Amino acid sequence: MTEPPDDSSCELPDLPPKDGRRHRHFDGVTWDGVTPQVYKRAPSSPSAPWRDVVRYTLVGETGEPTAFHLRYFEIGEGGYSSLEKHRYVHAVVVLCGQGKVIVGHEVFDVAPFDLVYVPSLLPHQFVNTGSEPFGFLCPVDADRDRPQGLSGAELADLLSDPVVREVVRIPDRVTSSKTDPIDPVRR
Ligand code: MN
Repeated sequence: MTEPPDDSSCELPDLPPKDGRRHRHFDGVTWDGVTPQVYKRAPSSPSAPWRDVVRYTLVGETGEPTAFHLRYFEIGEGGYSSLEKHRYVHAVVVLCGQGKVIVGHEVFDVAPFDLVYVPSLLPHQFVNTGSEPFGFLCPVDADRDRPQGLSGAELADLLSDPVVREVVRIPDRVTSSKTDPIDPVRR
């Protein structure tokens, strides 16, 4: 073992989390001392819907000097994240439950402690397929672009794939109108 460099995570400046805590217990459902937030701060939109998603921001939004934000998402039974794309990438690690993840034309069955990498600008969606909460860590760049919905052409391309079509959660009106793009969504 070599000594960590001076700028390793062990040597972070003495800065927040705001409440000064350095340790948070995860009981399998909640993170001690972290208030859950609604996924995208706005109600589920009919054009880019999501369902039963709660976000815990663990690191990065209370002044920590990080280039990343570490979030934990919990998707309830029957829930799903919005179908979206963006320039920043995802490296998601599942902590509990079972789900399917659409990444472009691929669909992955995931369980603890699987990793899913979502490349830049590939459409993706997380769907809870089990009867327990589906929870995963999702670090992202602190400085990142806003998620976008898909164009009509992108959606039609995805829906041409029967494996994706079976898993994807989108509004009925979009499936019946392939030229109708999904509006951009807030993050
Ligand atoms: Mn995303």
